[in-house]
Amino acid sequence: MRARHYCPTCVRAREHSPSESGDFRCESCGEPYSANFGGTAPDGSIERCAFCGHRAFFVQKDFDQRVGCLLLAVSLGLALLVGWRFGWIWFTPVLLATVLVDWIVARRIRAVTICYRCDAEYRDIPLNPRHRGYDPHVAERYAEKKTVRRMR
Ligand SMILES: [Zn+2]
Ligand SMILES: [Zn+2]
Repeated sequence: MRARHYCPTCVRAREHSPSESGDFRCESCGEPYSANFGGTAPDGSIERCAFCGHRAFFVQKDFDQRVGCLLLAVSLGLALLVGWRFGWIWFTPVLLATVLVDWIVARRIRAVTICYRCDAEYRDIPLNPRHRGYDPHVAERYAEKKTVRRMR
């Protein structure tokens, strides 16, 4: 498992491994925080956030949107090139084939589990079947808590 903690004050990221439970300070602003990796389920998936202790997570493909756009542009370019060179009858089959390749690549990309409350990211863990995609309603609930915390 790799866990990435974001400092709530300066958004500085730091990677943690599960053997690193304990108290830490942000490397750039000195904000203290603690990590407790006891919250994993028997199958190794995450149950409780190691940094804020909350149990609300969402799952997202660990995939850069810009890479997706680039892949699509390359597919289209290749299809145009083949169509222009070998005849336009090849345009659609080539485009479909490259899009299929893109889709297979995208399917292989690992998912990342993200904490609603503190935005910590967990990678290289088995997915918890209870964790779903991003839900704006749940996020709103935690956003309110964040504001309350900041006002104090
Ligand atoms: Zn900081
Ligand atoms: Zn958290």
